[in-house]
Amino acid sequence: MIDKTVTRFAPSPTGFLHLGHAHAALFARRAAVAAGGTFLLRIEDIDGPRCRLAFEDAIFEDLTWLGLSWDGEVTRQSDRRAAYGAALAQLSAAGLTYPCFCTRKEIAAEIKAAGAAPQGPDGPLYPGTCRGARGDARARGEAGVSEAALRLDCTVAGTALGPLSFNDRVAGSITVDPCLFGDAVVARKDIGTSYHLACVVDDAAQGVTLVTRGDDLLPATHLQRVLQAALSLPQPDYHHHGLVMDDSGHRLAKRDDARSLRALRASGVSPAEARAMAGFPD
Ligand code: GLU
Repeated sequence: MIDKTVTRFAPSPTGFLHLGHAHAALFARRAAVAAGGTFLLRIEDIDGPRCRLAFEDAIFEDLTWLGLSWDGEVTRQSDRRAAYGAALAQLSAAGLTYPCFCTRKEIAAEIKAAGAAPQGPDGPLYPGTCRGARGDARARGEAGVSEAALRLDCTVAGTALGPLSFNDRVAGSITVDPCLFGDAVVARKDIGTSYHLACVVDDAAQGVTLVTRGDDLLPATHLQRVLQAALSLPQPDYHHHGLVMDDSGHRLAKRDDARSLRALRASGVSPAEARAMAGFPD
């Protein structure tokens, strides 16, 4: 039996949708329709302090205005904390995580003292301060591990899981570097999970077979593939696509309000024109 294609659009309600989001949403929708599959909407609202209900309402309104409908119920990550907790427990039971008590300031000071740190896609890699004996001692001495972030021990995970790869429909087969992000945080102290963990747990729970998203997230797939393998989750196919640029060649960001869908709408742009501006002329 051939699996039905399931794609998703997974915005975070931290601002208004812009043309880049419209492109990502229309891309995922088209990929599903072309394959006779299903297109899902997931609200990635785990980052409590930055998410707003008004932005979430705006997501539904703006997508509908754009002429885009989704299949089934909307998944909201803030409803799925138990699933993330179970996944973290599984990673920890497999010996793939360690608690980290470091503050940003301590990490910066440690990197400065070391003189240099290997760079990852998001900046300097964590120097491993809490890994091993030092971290264990801190864990015993502090209020409790619930006060800590959880980090993936990427070296242990890489060894335990063996060689991994993922398929990108543009770039082809990519060999995973399990330490591309170093010992990445899989559960933040403040929110108890992370984008990467929630994303792989939900993609699997929602039966997503094809992850389409901007190619700025291609590095993230290395880490997400490690988490999938560690959690024995099915492996989706990937299609990382190009980003929508502004007139000066920079990628659009939520702060560029001029290109937000609602600003375009207010200035008299029609949904068909907005779809064309997002790269999907009718
Ligand atoms: N919430 C993420 C974003 O808006 C989703 C990334 C993804 O599609 O995995 O960038």
